[in-house]
Amino acid sequence: MKMAPVEQLFTLFNETALVIQEELSCTYLEALAETGENLFHGSVLQDEISEITEKRLQKQYKEIHLSSFTKEEIRKAYQLVILKGMKENVQPNHQMTPDSVGMLMSYLVDKFIEQPTFRLLDPAIGTGNLVTTVLNQQQRNVQSIGIEIDDLLLKLAYVNANLQEHPIELFNQDSLEPLFIDPVDAVIADLPVGYYPNDVRASDYQLKAPEGHSYAHHLFIEQSVNHTKQGGYLFFIIPNGLFESDQAQQLREYFKEEIIVQGVLQLPLSMFKNNNAAKSILVLQKKGEGIAAPKQALLAKLPNLSSAVEMDNILRKIDKWFLDNKR
Ligand code: SAM
Repeated sequence: MKMAPVEQLFTLFNETALVIQEELSCTYLEALAETGENLFHGSVLQDEISEITEKRLQKQYKEIHLSSFTKEEIRKAYQLVILKGMKENVQPNHQMTPDSVGMLMSYLVDKFIEQPTFRLLDPAIGTGNLVTTVLNQQQRNVQSIGIEIDDLLLKLAYVNANLQEHPIELFNQDSLEPLFIDPVDAVIADLPVGYYPNDVRASDYQLKAPEGHSYAHHLFIEQSVNHTKQGGYLFFIIPNGLFESDQAQQLREYFKEEIIVQGVLQLPLSMFKNNNAAKSILVLQKKGEGIAAPKQALLAKLPNLSSAVEMDNILRKIDKWFLDNKR
């Protein structure tokens, strides 16, 4: 029986990654990045690989024609192999943004942003799954930029972008250090949550902690706002307790000065291990001349994202909010 396209690609990524992992004595995810790059270039790029293995890999790559797959099929297959690799060991803050959340972010980006073309930044791009989920749903021309501190994740993002033919400009650096990018129209990010260890750097931010380490997720919000044009939108995946922490008061004051809160959509608790790990999507707009706040912010508790009927209801509620509050 013929395999489904995603399964066919998954099998190729998985089998060739296992061969490379063995041959290079590296981790599965490192091997995955290598095999993805080989597939993109149509040749085996690693000098350390023996001739016999090279031939075997070449044969497998030749059996696949990337151009016969959709971008979404490529993204989904790559997502599945990354998930397999991440099961081995991954820090919670490195986890890939799941499909369902990416689709929702995508829907919101589509609804809020009106320009026919726009610049999009993901300052915590990770594997690139979130940003490419959004790009694959976009009919518009989007100029995208991604930043990531971890070199393996950045390599996975770079291979992901290449395989899906998305020209994303990538930077391998700490996003809280100065960024050399022009202002963007929109930011999306699944924020890394926790303390930022670099107190010296943190001291440049308004949202620095009065004492001790600052929260990385607070600084990420401020840095993102700094690089957004007036009236631009920011879509963040945040911990539910963002406004209840010991530094929440500071955050609220900062928001009052710089930002309009457009909405908070709470993701279903069933998606998370426990209530403390639960997250929401926060939609912000940078203040600017002629930018008005909505009559009421969009507040919703999202139902189980795999229930079509419940999702349909909530999307209708969101559509109504747009009619009443936006245009
Ligand atoms: N959206 C990503 C995806 O689909 O793969 C996942 C994002 S993950 C929840 C958060 C990411 O932020 C991780 O990849 C982590 O390495 C990155 N990160 C953490 N601190 C950072 C920093 N200071 N500068 C840049 N990236 C950072």
